[in-house]
Amino acid sequence: MTGAMRGLLEEEPLLFERGSPGRAGASLPAAAVPEYDPADELGRFLRGGVEGLPELSEPEVMRHYVRLSQWNYGVDTGIYPLGSCTMKYNPKVNEAAARLSGFARLHPYLPADLAQGALRLMFELQEMLSEIGGFAATTLQPAAGAHGELTGLMIIRAYHDSRGDRRPKMLVAQTAHGTNPASSALSGFTVVPIPIGPEGYLRPDDLKRHLGPDVAALMMTNPNTLGIFERHVGEIAGLLHEAGALLYGDGANMNALLGRARPGEMGIDVMQYNLHKTFTTPHGGGGPGSGPVAVAEKLQPFLPKPVVVKKADGTFALDFSGEKSIGKLRTFWGNFGMFVRAWTYLRELGAEGLREVSGLAVLNANYLRALLEGSYHLPFPTPVLHEVVFSDKEQKKTGVTTMDIAKGLIDHGLHPPTVYFPLVVQGALMIEPTETESKESLDGFARAMKDLAQQAHTNPQALHDAPAMPHVSRLDETRAARFPVLRWTPGMDLDRLQGSETPAK
Ligand SMILES: *Cc1c(COP(=O)(O)O)cnc(C)c1O
Repeated sequence: MTGAMRGLLEEEPLLFERGSPGRAGASLPAAAVPEYDPADELGRFLRGGVEGLPELSEPEVMRHYVRLSQWNYGVDTGIYPLGSCTMKYNPKVNEAAARLSGFARLHPYLPADLAQGALRLMFELQEMLSEIGGFAATTLQPAAGAHGELTGLMIIRAYHDSRGDRRPKMLVAQTAHGTNPASSALSGFTVVPIPIGPEGYLRPDDLKRHLGPDVAALMMTNPNTLGIFERHVGEIAGLLHEAGALLYGDGANMNALLGRARPGEMGIDVMQYNLHKTFTTPHGGGGPGSGPVAVAEKLQPFLPKPVVVKKADGTFALDFSGEKSIGKLRTFWGNFGMFVRAWTYLRELGAEGLREVSGLAVLNANYLRALLEGSYHLPFPTPVLHEVVFSDKEQKKTGVTTMDIAKGLIDHGLHPPTVYFPLVVQGALMIEPTETESKESLDGFARAMKDLAQQAHTNPQALHDAPAMPHVSRLDETRAARFPVLRWTPGMDLDRLQGSETPAK
C-alpha cells in the first residue's frame, strides 16, 4: 500500500461503516402501481430481517469497491516474487478467450458431437504438453499441482501392482517441494528423505544407499527448490530404473526449462505441470488451478479416464475404455477455463516464444542474484536457474530476521518473497522474479532489498516494527489459518486480528 492510500485512510478511519439513511444510488420515477415493502415478501425466506443495510449513493459504492481493490496487492499492481510459485503476469488475451461464450457457457454434460471445439482444444493442449515435456501422453484432469502429484503416485502404484510388485517406500529429495512428501504420505507410502550434497543437488551415491526392491519411486523437483538444476538426473533415473523403481518429476518449475530441456528425455517417468504457474493461468486466493500429468509410454495405460482422443475420422471423443486406468479423479473433465487460458498462451507464444520465456526467467533471477549478492548471504554458490535463495545470516547479526525483511518490503509497497522455505536453508528468502518483470521493476525490488539490508544495521527496531503502512501489521499466522475471520461485521475491531508472528520455522 502506498503512502497516499494510507493518508486517505487516516482521513476516513471507518472501513465499512458508510452511508446515511435515505441515501440511494438510483432515482426512479414515482411508482404507477401500489407500493409494497419487499421485506413482506422476502420475509418468508429470510432468517433475520433486512434492517441495517447501508444506504449509499452511487459514487460512495463505487469508491468503496475501488478502495478495497487498491488495498489489495496483485501481479497486476507490481512484482510478486514468491519463489516456487511463479507468479508471472497473466495476459488478458487469455481471459478474453476463456470468456468466449462457446467455451464459458458450455454444459459439461453436452454430448461429444456438440462439444467438438472444447474437446479439440483439450486434445491439442494434451499434445502440446506432451511435446513440451517429452512424454508419451498427458491427462488434464488434476485440479492443482498437489492433485497432479497424487495422480502421479496413484499411477506409480498401479504400475507396480500390475507387475505384482509391492513397493511401500517413496524416496523424496530434501530439496523437493513440501507437497511431495505430503502427497507420498497421503498416498500411503512411507516417506524416506534423501539428503542433498553441499552444492545443493542430489548425489547418486546418497541415493544408492536407499535403493532396494521396496522402493516405488523417487520424487524430485527439478530445478529444485533452491533453483538449482539436478545435474545428475540422468544417472539417478538410470539407477532407479535398474532397481525396478520409477522417477517422479515435480514439474511446477518448468518455467526454467521451457523449450530448452525435456524432462521425459532425462528419464523422468511421470510429471505434473502447473498450468497456473508456468502457463499463465491465474492463481492465488484459492482460485482454480490445473495440474496436468504427463507420463512415459509404459505408464500410459494407467492414466485417469476419460482420455480425450482423436478418432480416425478427425473428430474428438472422451474415451472411457482403459482397463488399467486408475479411474476418474475430478468431477467432469477438469478445470476447463484453465485449459482455454493455457492453450491461448501456448498458441500465442509458439515454440520460439516458450524458449524465450525460460531464457528471460533465468536471466531475471540471475540479475537479481548479482544485484543482491553483496547484501544477503547466499547459502549455495552453485549457479541457479529461475529463482534464487538467500538467507538472513548477515542481518541476524543485529537481530533482524527474514520475517522482518519481508514485513519491511511491504512498507516499500512490494510483495515479499517466499520466506522460511526451502527448509534446508535457515531463514530462507526465496526469490523468483519471473520473466514478465522489466529491468526497472527488478532494479526497484533490488533497491528496496538493499535499503532493508542497510537498515538492519542502522535501525533494526524499525524493521521489527514493520510494516507500518497496512491496516494490520503482523498477524498471528497460526490463528489466522485455524480461525480465519473472513467476514466484516459492524464495529469489528481490526486490532483483534493482530497477534504475535509465528514464523514457519
Ligand atoms: C506450487 C508447487 C507445487 C504444488 O502446486 P499446487 O497447485 O499449489 O498444489 C508443487 N511443487 C512445486 C515445486 C511447486 O512450486
